[in-house]
Amino acid sequence: MTSVLLGYGVEGLCQTLIAHGADRVILAQDPELRHYRTEPYAEVLTSLIAKHKPAIFLFGATTLGRDLAPQVAGRVGTGLTADCTGLDIDAETGLLRQTRPAFGGNIMATILCPDHRPQMATVRPRVMRRLPPDASRLGEIVEEKPILSSKSTGKQVLDVLVEAAQAVNLEEANIIVSGGRGLGRPENFSIIRELADVLGGCVGASRAAVDAGWIHPSHQVGQTGKTVAPRLYIACGISGAIQHLAGMSGSEIVVAINKDPEAPIFQVATYGIVGDLFQVLPRLTARLRKALGKDGETRQKARRVERESDPACGVL
Ligand code: FAD
Repeated sequence: MTSVLLGYGVEGLCQTLIAHGADRVILAQDPELRHYRTEPYAEVLTSLIAKHKPAIFLFGATTLGRDLAPQVAGRVGTGLTADCTGLDIDAETGLLRQTRPAFGGNIMATILCPDHRPQMATVRPRVMRRLPPDASRLGEIVEEKPILSSKSTGKQVLDVLVEAAQAVNLEEANIIVSGGRGLGRPENFSIIRELADVLGGCVGASRAAVDAGWIHPSHQVGQTGKTVAPRLYIACGISGAIQHLAGMSGSEIVVAINKDPEAPIFQVATYGIVGDLFQVLPRLTARLRKALGKDGETRQKARRVERESDPACGVL
C-alpha cells in the first residue's frame, strides 16, 4: 500500500504513515503546498497518478478529500465513487467493489469501474479499522519534485481562521454515548452528557434527535451523519434504524437502552437493557461515577480540560 503525502515541511509524517501500514510513501513537498488549495493539490496528484499508474486510488471522504477527489478524477478521466461505506476486491475479476448508499439511502449500491484507471473512491473515515501504529515497521520513501504551473498557484492563502464553533470529531472517539428520539426533548440530552462525562466520552445522536433540533448536526451518527468505530457505543432511546446502524456497526461493544424489547438496536447490541432510559441512565451514571471513584474524577477532569481545548469531543 502506497500513501501520498503532499505539503511542506511534512517529511516527519512519512514514518507515521509507515507505522500505520504504508509500505511506501510518495512525498511531494513545495512551499505552494503548505496550505491546502484545490488547484495545486489536484495538479500534483494528477501528475503523480500519470507517473505511478496506480490501479486504485483512495481519498478520505473528509471535507478536503471530497473537494479534491472529483477534481483529480476529472483530470485523469476516470470515474469516482463518492462516500463509500465499504470496499472489497471482487474474487473473480480483481476489481474494486465500491459500496455506498444510493437512491436516498434506501439501497446499498456496489459500483465497479472496469474500464478506466485508477479505480477511484472517497471513503468515510473509520470505515476501515485503523491498525495500531508499529514504530518498527520499515517502508520506502520516494521523493518527487512537484511541477506546478502558474495557473494552479494563482491564488494565495492570506490567513487561516479557525472556526469558533468547531465540529465534533466523533470519528476519533473511543467512547460515545448517543441519544435518540426516546429522549423526548432537548434538555434531556443532559443525562447523555453526564454519562459521557463520567466515561470521558463524546455525545452522539440519531438523526431524529438532530432533525428535531435537539442537538447540532455534527453529533449525528449514521449514513448521513458520521461513521464511528469506538470501543464502546451506548445507544439510548435509539430504535436502531438501518441508517443509524450504518454509522455505528463498527463499534467494538454496543450497549443499547430501550424500553421496547423488539427494538432492532438489540440485534446489534453486545449488552441490552430493556427499560426506561430516564430510570436506567441516572443509576448507571451514579454507579459508574462511584466505581471510577477518585481516579475517575481526576481522569474526568483531565478529559474535560482536554475536550475543552480540543474540539474532538465538544458538546453544544
Ligand atoms: P425512533 O426510531 O423514533 O426510536 C426511538 C426509540 O426510543 C424507540 O425504539 C423507543 O422504543 C425508544 N424510547 C422511547 N422512549 C424511551 C424511554 N423513555 N426509554 C428508553 N427507550 C425509549 N438516522 C440516523 O440516526 N442517522 C442517519 O445518518 C440517518 N440517515 C438517514 C438517511 C436517509 C436517506 C433516511 C431515509 C433516513 C435516515 N435516518 C438516519 C433516519 C432513520 O431512518 C431513523 O428515522 C432514525 O434513526 C430514528 O431515530 P431514533 O432511533 O432516535 O428514533
